[in-house]
Amino acid sequence: MNFKKLLKVIFAAMLAGIMIFAAACTTTPTPDVTAAPEATEAPTEEPTEEPVTPMEEILAALASTEFKDCKNVILYIGDGMGQNHVPATDAITGGRYDGKLVIEYLPYTGIVNTTCTEGEPDSASGGTALACGYKGKRKQIGLNNKGEEVMNMTELAKSLGKSAGIITTESIVDATPATFSVHAKNRNDESNIAALQIDTSVADFIMGGGKAMYDLLMENDPSYAQKLTDNNVTWVTKWEDVLSFNGEGRLIATMTDDYWFEDADTHPSLPEMTEQAIKMLSKNDKGFFLIVEGGALDEVAHNCDMMELTRHMTSFDQAVEIGVRYAYENKDTLIVVTADHETGGILPKEEADAYIKKNEKTNQYIAQEEWCLTNAKLHCLYEAEKIAQSKNPDVDWDTLPYRFTTIAHTSNKVNVWAYGPGAEKMQNEKLKSFEIGKFLGESLSGAEFGSTDKNGVK
Ligand SMILES: [Zn+2]
Repeated sequence: MNFKKLLKVIFAAMLAGIMIFAAACTTTPTPDVTAAPEATEAPTEEPTEEPVTPMEEILAALASTEFKDCKNVILYIGDGMGQNHVPATDAITGGRYDGKLVIEYLPYTGIVNTTCTEGEPDSASGGTALACGYKGKRKQIGLNNKGEEVMNMTELAKSLGKSAGIITTESIVDATPATFSVHAKNRNDESNIAALQIDTSVADFIMGGGKAMYDLLMENDPSYAQKLTDNNVTWVTKWEDVLSFNGEGRLIATMTDDYWFEDADTHPSLPEMTEQAIKMLSKNDKGFFLIVEGGALDEVAHNCDMMELTRHMTSFDQAVEIGVRYAYENKDTLIVVTADHETGGILPKEEADAYIKKNEKTNQYIAQEEWCLTNAKLHCLYEAEKIAQSKNPDVDWDTLPYRFTTIAHTSNKVNVWAYGPGAEKMQNEKLKSFEIGKFLGESLSGAEFGSTDKNGVK
């Protein structure tokens, strides 16, 4: 040990001695070393003492709210959420407020035809209709029927100086979040969608699952690490990193490999993410657009897992509640809740049983889906039900009041619910999905948006 080092050691020992002496003299109790560290930043706001209006009171006042001009739009998409998803959830869970979900209290409701130009919709055509106000084709992301790129709600919001965010319980490269962020010919090329989200999306943030696809992109094309920097994109994989994001540039958060289950503790819940998203977006005085997707709803309907479906529906409704409360308090926010298509052909149990029995011989009642082989369709349904039942051993499946009739998508109509400036326009039983997209864009901009043709193709 040289002299300098020796001096340092003596100095350190003296300092430690002084600290021990000081600690022994002080009357303050020694802090518990296991306690969480205190926040390093001083709080920027004084805690508010204002009482929180009970949700029951807000729900009772929804129909008579008077609004200002539309500044913000929050769109909720339950992927695959058909007309029977809501009553099935109420019947199985007992609902949330007086036996019902918050969704059901929104004052205006309509019925929506979700078909695309090729007939049966998928999330790509359904998402494009809502995101861009155009009727397109299956698999196409943000393209019209002719395959041309058309503006989406996110791009519209940003062109107006507003902020825009996308959150989902799905992988963010899945079709629905893709239609709000990029333009692509094929929804199945998810690596391309991840690349486009980095290169071309203008959304202030995209959050959900999808880490596996981003990892794959970075592995296959290491230049994307640099492209993140070039495009001023912060890519994170942990919720804490979302919470501590400094707001500079764009944020992409992939917090699970793929879609997620609500009861897992490795990621935020959809309501937590919704709360955070509104907090981030509402900093912009010019307003915002937010899309909240209950994306995993579609996955669990494909799995014919009614119990998991009702858990996701409840969580989705809690996310709706956060937006409704915000809209009620601010009077300048349009809330629209709808679906891109129906998944699972959910029917009241007796109807479902009769339907399955009647079609058992022909085995042709299930919609065409690539993964469900011809003549094996009914087998698919039974298999899925068996797996779902084994995951919920405490549930007496025969007593559930609703049942799936397919593992696939259907062209069954879906609902739309709305609250906010202009929401009465959604009180219509003959809506088409693209007309909702047009309505959202026109509400946000005050100008024409989407297709100008009554069929939604031009
Ligand atoms: Zn699906």
